[in-house]
Amino acid sequence: MKVDYLIVGAGFTGATLAERIARELDRKVLVVDRRLHIGGNAYDEYDSHGVLVHRYGPHIFHTQSKKVWDYLSRFTEWRPYCHRVRAVVEGKEIPLPFSLASLRRLFSERLADRLEEKLLAHFGYGARVPILRLREEEDPDLRFLADYVYKHVFEGYTLKQWGLRPEELSPSVTARVPVLLSYDERYFQDPYQAMPKEGYTALFRRMLSHPNIQVLLGADWKEVEGEVRFHRLIFTGPMDEFFGYAYGPLPYRSLRFVWEHHPKPWFQEVGTVNYPTEYAFTRITEFKHLTGQDYLPHTTVIYEYPEAYTPGENEPYYPVPREENEERLRLYQEEAAKLKTVLFAGRLGDYRYYNMDQAVARALKLFEEVARG
Ligand SMILES: Cc1cc2nc3c(=O)[nH]c(=O)nc-3n(C[C@H](O)[C@H](O)[C@H](O)COP(=O)(O)OP(=O)(O)OC[C@H]3O[C@@H](n4cnc5c(N)ncnc54)[C@H](O)[C@@H]3O)c2cc1C
Repeated sequence: MKVDYLIVGAGFTGATLAERIARELDRKVLVVDRRLHIGGNAYDEYDSHGVLVHRYGPHIFHTQSKKVWDYLSRFTEWRPYCHRVRAVVEGKEIPLPFSLASLRRLFSERLADRLEEKLLAHFGYGARVPILRLREEEDPDLRFLADYVYKHVFEGYTLKQWGLRPEELSPSVTARVPVLLSYDERYFQDPYQAMPKEGYTALFRRMLSHPNIQVLLGADWKEVEGEVRFHRLIFTGPMDEFFGYAYGPLPYRSLRFVWEHHPKPWFQEVGTVNYPTEYAFTRITEFKHLTGQDYLPHTTVIYEYPEAYTPGENEPYYPVPREENEERLRLYQEEAAKLKTVLFAGRLGDYRYYNMDQAVARALKLFEEVARG
């Protein structure tokens, strides 16, 4: 078999590149994925109770990029959806990101008034203040707040999520945790927030439905390598695996999912509830909030238990953000740069935490390079 492009991985990165190359460059593309379905980690399906669920954990679409939004809108209609997240802190459910509304749920009116007044005087309404920035303040009330959020919302969750203490991770992780100076209870503030009306898998099906695209599922790259002739390879699988782990594995964090079905209309008030300090799981997500299947009299939830990643045993989900891993990545990137006909991209190919929109944006940019030849 002979194609112009062989693309390994049918997730957002692979599907976007396949679609662009097939349609815009009129080239033949073969997409292979070792899973038995398209969509990568964004794959969704109906469970045995008719609830649309995300097999690899809840995926909520949001973006600031009009370009990504317009591009994906060619393949789906959208259902408006603003994700809401709560965290259980000292027995109370508070909105996340930590905001002025969260203050009010936790502290006495007097203390909340004082904190709010000081926060607004220092940073202004609507600001997103990184927790580390707040910790630099000399005002004891603001320091108290920073320490409180760090301890009750961030520290325990980080320990569970990564199996590491915050100081063992790249400082950028802590730097990102914000206190939001508003009463906006949406988890994301991006201008575009919605879920694909018929789900992600339907969106992928449309993306990949082009006469120039063939899709081969249940096939590892290694199995097709010798069988298919191609001009260029786009690899969206793990970069370390591609090079036979020559410099050692790039560490990932994995997840174990526990599913529950409940014979009642709703399980919790919002899409996701985080448990920063209690239990071994990090969060519970109820899919009906995401999918809008309000009419169903029963509901499905997923618990996420973070665990170490072991190749062949579980899935590589989150690249671990540590300096030493960046150094190892650089060694692999140097190898990759020597290969003139192979391009690496995506969450695994770049070893970067990308949200779905970032994966699409990266793929669209890479396509421009491909198109230039
Ligand atoms: C639990 C979880 C929750 C998330 N939630 C969100 C969210 O709410 N919002 C958001 O925007 N993003 C979310 N993401 C991120 C989202 O999953 C990624 O942005 C997206 O999957 C990236 O697409 P990709 O194509 O780069 O990678 P993937 O989707 O991982 O696709 C890569 C594909 O390559 C295949 N592959 C790998 N190696 C080989 C090989 N050797 N041979 C053949 N095939 C191979 C894999 O089977 C896989 O299907 C979440 C991720 C996780 C893990």
